[in-house]
Amino acid sequence: MTNFSEMLEVARTEALIGLGEGGVPVGAAIFGADGQLLSSGRNRRVQEGDPSIHGETDAFRRAGRQRSYKDLVMVTTLAPCWYCSGLVRQFGFGTVVVGESVNFAGGVEWLREAGVKVVDLASPELIEMMGGFIRDQPGIWFEDIGV
Ligand SMILES: [Zn+2]
Repeated sequence: MTNFSEMLEVARTEALIGLGEGGVPVGAAIFGADGQLLSSGRNRRVQEGDPSIHGETDAFRRAGRQRSYKDLVMVTTLAPCWYCSGLVRQFGFGTVVVGESVNFAGGVEWLREAGVKVVDLASPELIEMMGGFIRDQPGIWFEDIGV
């Protein structure tokens, strides 16, 4: 699987599961250099009562220990927040695929400045879904990004 849109589908499926669970609909997935799926996860702040479980951190933990992150691809339905952008930089992910950055730009520019390859797929479906969630659940959303 080397197609970024196909990779995003894995993350989007996680986001939709999270939405169905009443959670923040952000999903993520991590792929290896040759495109194999290593893990996926979703924001489970509401479900688990744990503010540290963002989509990216969930996928990161589920991927287990990796020798290097340079050739791995972090895929997330929404631009990563500062916390998750920090994770990307701390561990040196080479590539981040973002489903959309319209509703939230997060640390995308900061990652680019640091030399991380950021691919923004600007998915209309995800822009609509996340926009709808923020309109319907502003309290949960702003809690999630620490505002
Ligand atoms: Zn995050």
